[in-house]
Amino acid sequence: MADGAAVQQERLDALLDERRTFPPSEEFRRQANAADHAIYQRAAADPEAFWADEAARIDWFKPWDKVLEWNFPWAKWFVGGKLNVTYNCVDRHAAGPRRNKAAIIWEGEPGDSRVLTFGMLQREVNRFANALKSLGVRKGDRVAVYMGMVPELPIALLACAKIGAPHSVVFGGFSAESLRERINDAQAKVLITCDGAWRRGHVVHLKHNADEALHGTPSIEKVIVVHRVGERAEAAMHEGRDLWWHHLVEHASDKCEAEPMDAEDILYLLYTSGTTGKPKGIVHTTGGYLVGTAATHRYIFDVKENDVYWCTADIGWVTGHSYIVYGPLANGTTSLMYEGSPDYPDRGRFWQIAHKYGVNILYTAPTAIRTFMRWGTEWPAKYDLSSLRLLGTVGEPINPEAWIWYNQHIGRERCPIVDTWWQTETGMCMITPLPGLTATKPGSATRPFPGIDAEVLDEKGERVGPGAGGYLVLNKPWPAMFRTIYGDPERYVRQYWSRYPGRYFAGDGAKVDDDGYFWLLGRVDDVMNVSGHRISTYEVESALVDHPSVAEAAVIGKTHDVKGQAISAFVTLKEGTPATDHLKEELKQHVAHKIGALARPDDIFFSAELPKTRSAKIMRRLLRDIAEGRVLGDTTTLADPAVVASLRQQYEAKE
Ligand code: ATP
Ligand code: MG
Repeated sequence: MADGAAVQQERLDALLDERRTFPPSEEFRRQANAADHAIYQRAAADPEAFWADEAARIDWFKPWDKVLEWNFPWAKWFVGGKLNVTYNCVDRHAAGPRRNKAAIIWEGEPGDSRVLTFGMLQREVNRFANALKSLGVRKGDRVAVYMGMVPELPIALLACAKIGAPHSVVFGGFSAESLRERINDAQAKVLITCDGAWRRGHVVHLKHNADEALHGTPSIEKVIVVHRVGERAEAAMHEGRDLWWHHLVEHASDKCEAEPMDAEDILYLLYTSGTTGKPKGIVHTTGGYLVGTAATHRYIFDVKENDVYWCTADIGWVTGHSYIVYGPLANGTTSLMYEGSPDYPDRGRFWQIAHKYGVNILYTAPTAIRTFMRWGTEWPAKYDLSSLRLLGTVGEPINPEAWIWYNQHIGRERCPIVDTWWQTETGMCMITPLPGLTATKPGSATRPFPGIDAEVLDEKGERVGPGAGGYLVLNKPWPAMFRTIYGDPERYVRQYWSRYPGRYFAGDGAKVDDDGYFWLLGRVDDVMNVSGHRISTYEVESALVDHPSVAEAAVIGKTHDVKGQAISAFVTLKEGTPATDHLKEELKQHVAHKIGALARPDDIFFSAELPKTRSAKIMRRLLRDIAEGRVLGDTTTLADPAVVASLRQQYEAKE
């Protein structure tokens, strides 16, 4: 046992061998929104006072009586306060000097574009809010949204928030079946969709899928359809049920009073991406959510009045909700949104957009960065990216090699990188650098945001020492936290608040290093047990991605009679690299060299693609099902079912 612990310690010491640190430049620190380390002490000493100060930047119709009421595990923030999210995100800016400032810059995939100033956005939101009212949508009614990334999407969300109707966005890449399940769970009254969406020059048949979903959704009374792709969508309109967006708003008034909402009224529902199992309807409320997203957005992204800020997520995910729509607009920021694919019409599209609009802040995901690495540096090199000032990443642990690449080829070694850990449930970034204060380390999300109390515990609930792996927990409530799972409060308690009494169980593995930095190791399920040693899939993947031939890797532990689990790796090679047996051996060697012999994969499979969720996260649980010859678990959130089928064939051929 002692021997095992020593080996494990050695492995953790060697973890990624990551000693590089990147302190912020003095120049950046001086101008940063958070420029003094005292922010951490102030927030730790009195988190409620810290959040109350942030809440004072929001306009309240009625001030709160109490900052926090914590009745474990039920939280109420800004108790008794009344406000409206859309009033804060749009109306108050439209009434002041930001009236003619761009609120949303939209770039369509085919190359069309649209800019909405705060004044224009206000009129569009009001028209659509009135249209919803005319269809009988009232405060508290749920509205389902299944759209592409068009300007009508944020307009729809803001209109719902204006009248107090919780929205439930279902990502446009989901199937009819997934949409139906989510509509029924939320009992939505209205569905807003598009005739179709552009994706890589092809049409995604949203209305067609919606029609299929709507056979079996008795709660839906009306369907509103945005005209986006036209004839190619082949969208049939159902008399009496379906209405065109543009007809509805044509004669609607552009004046609409914001509904005063209780701080704890529901703002929206959002189903998690389903990486680990059946999606859960996460409930976010009004006051705390707005305070939390606005404050984190301002400090973490260091946004300035004239910045163009671009978060590349889809609004179908929480990242888009919190950091394309609510956080940025609450701060009066110009938020860019792009409709389509990063490789249309060519692989330089993101950089062309960044250049075209002079993007200052870019927030994207490790999976995108790894894709760009695979495509080669010549694409970003073609464009002047000197407007960029700050880079961000979210969604998965970022492999140090991808971090370094992002820093070199996109940030050109001038831009701080914020690696932000958070979840649909947390609503806002929780573990993250503050770019003017934190010396970053590639692969580490660094430290809890001010006022956030995070820890890493072992099985028994003891705090683990520096370098040892364990489970990430949060010890105190935070304003943007979810309040429950829609319709399933028991699951809320069981899944998140029961593992360690008094604490939030995130479901992610992590370790803390000597400097108090957090290193996320992936989901708890993604930690393998090989001959008694706990090895994270992410570490082995990072070692593989570190090899010059590897673009992307997914690693799983497969049941093994002797070792408990044996490591199988699924690897995507960089373009033009031949998949040879020799290379397999070389990769096994490489992992053994980087981490230790115990992490050497037993099997390596080369694959052109890896199975991912529609939010582009690797679904290791399906790879485990394949490797162990099981019936596949829930696959409704899988982006491309063909990938799994072909992997299964390969795997079985080998067995
Ligand atoms: P489900 O909960 O339905 O299985 P999901 O966890 O993928 O789906 P999200 O809420 O979108 O749904 O993702 C949150 C998870 O993403 C985190 O728990 C963590 O595993 C991962 N994650 C997000 N950001 C980071 C980051 N910066 N570093 C490491 N992991 C991250
Ligand atoms: Mg999750």
